[in-house]
Amino acid sequence: MPDSHTTTVPFIPARLQRLRDLADNLAFSWNDQTLGLFAALDERLWHIVNHNPVRLLMEIDPGRLMQAAEDESVLSLYDAAVSRFDDEMGMEKTWFSQQYAHRKGHLIAYFSMEFGLHESLPVYSGGLGILAGDHLKTASSMGIPMIGVGLLYRVSYFKQFIASDGRQQAVYEGAEFSGLPLKLVTDEVRRPVVVRIPVQDREISVRVWKAEVGRVPLLLLDTDFPANRASDRIITERLYDADRTYRLLQELVLGVGGVRMLEALDLPVSIYHLNEGHSALLSIERMQQLTAAGRKWEEALSAVRESTVFTTHTPVPAGNEVFERERMERVLSARHRGILDHNGGSGWRLGQCADEEETGTFNLTILALRTSRKSNAVSVLHGDVSRRMWQRVWPDLPLENVPMDAVTNGVHAPTWIHPSFKGVFRRYLEESWHQHLDDPEFWSRMDAVPDETIWSVHREIKKSMLREVRRRVAALRDRNGEDAAAVCGAAGILGDDVLTIGFARRFAPYKRATLLLHDPERLKRLLGNEDRPVQFIFAGKAHPADSDGKQILRYLYEFSRDAGIADRLVFVENYDMALSRLLIAGCDCWLNTPRRPYEASGTSGMKAAMNGCLNISIKDGWWAEASDTAYGWTIGDDTQDPDHGRQDERDSGALYALLESEVIPAYYQRNGSPWSSRWVDMMKRSISALTPRFSTVRMLREYVGTCYFPNR
Ligand SMILES: *Cc1c(COP(=O)(O)O)cnc(C)c1O
Repeated sequence: MPDSHTTTVPFIPARLQRLRDLADNLAFSWNDQTLGLFAALDERLWHIVNHNPVRLLMEIDPGRLMQAAEDESVLSLYDAAVSRFDDEMGMEKTWFSQQYAHRKGHLIAYFSMEFGLHESLPVYSGGLGILAGDHLKTASSMGIPMIGVGLLYRVSYFKQFIASDGRQQAVYEGAEFSGLPLKLVTDEVRRPVVVRIPVQDREISVRVWKAEVGRVPLLLLDTDFPANRASDRIITERLYDADRTYRLLQELVLGVGGVRMLEALDLPVSIYHLNEGHSALLSIERMQQLTAAGRKWEEALSAVRESTVFTTHTPVPAGNEVFERERMERVLSARHRGILDHNGGSGWRLGQCADEEETGTFNLTILALRTSRKSNAVSVLHGDVSRRMWQRVWPDLPLENVPMDAVTNGVHAPTWIHPSFKGVFRRYLEESWHQHLDDPEFWSRMDAVPDETIWSVHREIKKSMLREVRRRVAALRDRNGEDAAAVCGAAGILGDDVLTIGFARRFAPYKRATLLLHDPERLKRLLGNEDRPVQFIFAGKAHPADSDGKQILRYLYEFSRDAGIADRLVFVENYDMALSRLLIAGCDCWLNTPRRPYEASGTSGMKAAMNGCLNISIKDGWWAEASDTAYGWTIGDDTQDPDHGRQDERDSGALYALLESEVIPAYYQRNGSPWSSRWVDMMKRSISALTPRFSTVRMLREYVGTCYFPNR
């Protein structure tokens, strides 16, 4: 079987014996020493294998490893990486063990359709997955007893290529599981653990793979093995299958399979956390088990509610998971249907309000809301929007009493802060700066860092980012068969000293990637300004089924190839976590132009902020609560026009005015110094004010205190 975890790693010299441990735990993804070590072993191969340490060790030339074992500089990196890893894994005094000692033995199971931990484990598509990955990473360092549950996809989310006419091409690649940091979970006699899920006329078998995220295990479910018939083997083939029956089967595997798998492994879960509604069918499974054990339906419901919490992420009605009731009747086993058919069919109301009853549909967000003790949105503004959106589930309650709070998202700082800035923190704040992530007083010490240090560190990061962007643009042009002048010309695009604004996100229409292009002449004047030029870097994927998104991307790409613009506005292909890290740390500003209030939170701006990259944003999502002229700029005000054209007109006008009269002058106001002291001051404030507020440490404290263990 190609998948079983074959230890085909070449001989590893005794002096480097722990390399395998370092490669097998995703803690490498936020540990600079470990990342530095892998790069030092074979820099070229490290890039070829897309920063995947398991493949690096499989493919590295054994001779090189022998050499490395004698190389003092590699060995000192190795020793530092191992000791950092052992510290992290062995830490006994953690935030949780100190604050919640009496909750020892509890376990939180965090269910999500996607997890974005690192580019080498491609089981994510975007923000939702990255949030889930950051959640697990943070739980590990805070000592929160957590286990992640997700699906392992055979085909990773697509690689994006842009053709010469600007059309997006999606290329799907099969993942070879043996080359991933995963182990097949087996029982005591080393047989793979398999759980079975009943569906209408058969059972689906599911096996389990385990990834280690520091101290938190992530269990990924997989149906692609011979126990299943061919049509069931492909259930876990790809993320968010477009076929509605397959999507439902995926969500059965995640929800029902997840619960059964945790039982098979004897893991005593006390809290189930549903990250989005995709896993909500787990509540039906748990109710079914409880009623089969003799509990009344109503009792089963309240027992499930007592131990379930739910996070909703989308303010767009279409983003919520809805199935035709008829399809569910066809796919679900009699057992699960029994819960819904309870009391003459009134059980179906677990996933229905009046609208759904009328249209004969079943809504997983409603199911999640009705089977959770606690539900939350992901920013304060999104909380308001969500209470309005879901008031229909509690028609008797006034809007302000709709039971839905907000836990604003955050990001895992050690993953997203550039190694050079981490060096600044180590030097000027404290060696263990990462243990003070949510302490505002600690971060106010940023004031003491010399301006020159901030500026020179940022400038180096920016230069290396621009080098990589030019390299990628050259590669794109070359692949598309452009002439030598265009390919070589890529080396001359973008200036190192030019104000650089980044925009990288999914090309969902509400994100308005082309708001900046609303008045092309006005934009061209900004780009072409001789004294105070500005340049833009765009990246992002459109969902392959989203023709509007693809159209927007194409328009933007064509515009970027217009004569006279190409060296000041570029599009970079294949936005993923690696490109994200590069851009959020290397740009001077981060642009965010959603149509309010559709951005539930947004997290890329938080990543940027912690690297001193200043936000220019619509007052939506997280920025509605973070916005402050001390460290960023807000586009327009908080009005919402039902006429989208008029809103775009107004917001783009506000954006140009902001760039012309505030952002650009602030950047170039040098007063004889090589940098603008006002700008550097804003960078420091961005880091010091926003790191403690938007780190996942603050977020996890809130989840633990208000959702997992509200009564301590
Ligand atoms: C952070 C991140 C996102 C989410 O960013 P938004 O601001 O929510 O759009 C999406 N994709 C990647 C690769 C990221 O790193």
